[in-house]
Amino acid sequence: MLEKKYSHLWLLIFMLLFSACEGISQDTTKVYLPSEHFPNLAYLVKDAQIWDYMIMNEESISFYANAEDKMKNLPECRIYQNELKDFQELIKKLPVDSIAILYTQKQSNYLKDLPHFYKYLKQKERKKIKPDTNLPLKGWKIAIDPGHIEKTMEMAQIEAKFIKMKPSDATGLVPISFNEANLTLATANLLAEKLKKVGAEVMITRPQAGIGLLGISFEEWYESRRFSDLVAEMCAGRIDSSYMTKYFFENDATKTDWYGRLYVPIDLRLRADKINAFSPDLSIIIHYNVHGPNWEIRDSENNMQPTDKNYTMSFVAGSFKAYELNRQEDRIAFLRLLLSDDITKSIELSDKITSSFVQTLNVPTVTVAENLGYLNKSCILTEKPGVYARNLGLTRNIKGVLCYGESLCQDNITEAAWLNQQLIQAGDMKTSSRIRMVADAYYEGILNYAKNNVIK
Ligand SMILES: [Zn+2]
Repeated sequence: MLEKKYSHLWLLIFMLLFSACEGISQDTTKVYLPSEHFPNLAYLVKDAQIWDYMIMNEESISFYANAEDKMKNLPECRIYQNELKDFQELIKKLPVDSIAILYTQKQSNYLKDLPHFYKYLKQKERKKIKPDTNLPLKGWKIAIDPGHIEKTMEMAQIEAKFIKMKPSDATGLVPISFNEANLTLATANLLAEKLKKVGAEVMITRPQAGIGLLGISFEEWYESRRFSDLVAEMCAGRIDSSYMTKYFFENDATKTDWYGRLYVPIDLRLRADKINAFSPDLSIIIHYNVHGPNWEIRDSENNMQPTDKNYTMSFVAGSFKAYELNRQEDRIAFLRLLLSDDITKSIELSDKITSSFVQTLNVPTVTVAENLGYLNKSCILTEKPGVYARNLGLTRNIKGVLCYGESLCQDNITEAAWLNQQLIQAGDMKTSSRIRMVADAYYEGILNYAKNNVIK
């Protein structure tokens, strides 16, 4: 009786499996191409709606402008199986702007019908650099991006990236007041010095405190350029005109609004452009974290409570959410990340750097127990502890290997008191010895990565 019952069950399971397989063979949204071609796919797709914009099957990968075009089978870019390797090679060699042109010209054409791109396939690799034990980074081009901009506390409050705490026993009876932008720039200066000494060619995106990539201070920009830049961004289609018109022309937008909604997005775009023009082997994006809940709770003078929490993490590209393939430039970035090894290599670099944070700074990697909203909603944990895929403007738009580091929490009481000190020199600014330790941690992580990798 039992046996008979089970035999029915097996039959049912078999039928279910069979019908599921049938379903798969007709469902063109499923991935068929050998998965070894796309080890990053699992880190790229946060929400299933991403498949509204693409199809991967045994013949091709197709990208669509929207779900309707997908229904009508009108791809904006289709790559056939037999040209996949050439396409991957092109993506590796072409600058970002040219990848965008290739994408828009491709449509359903064959690559051989776009002969002007073939010359890039024949382009020679960069000359191999002979290893030099005294100069382990000889020939390496490294871009460093110190996060945020503002120099003074007044401006950092508009930027909303500052730490302020009342004197207490925990602070050593001194008031605490510093901003993240100065910490990141000091770290960049110290790191650059060390990297240059071992042969690297280094570019810092914003070498001067208080000046972003627009080349003028926010105050100057606010007075002279905010409306012309708003119109320019609208005309270029980089911001939503109806929303922004309502926001900036019909409401009383504050300086903080102008800063956060226009000045910073332009600045971030220019950072990615500057880094891509430099064509680095590695990009290091430096930030300092805060433990969210305390950040929000401030008194009338903007003082916050310290926390005993502290953790480290880093980000690489990926984790696209439902609405994040609406724009063509984002679909192009997605394709580049899918077909290149940028994410794989970035995870390797970020793992070396995060491990170095743990060892050098004695700060643990973040765990799920912290239950951080942005990690849950916007990130995908990679196979390396503390390293997350996250679709940030810079992780998405910078081509190549990168690490977006968040070495520690600035509002941790021990860290805050330490970071508040200004006892050592970092370029033309004073900073804390803790910042030197962070720069050393990045440096060790980069050296560890370079040991196992040659410049491409
Ligand atoms: Zn930051």
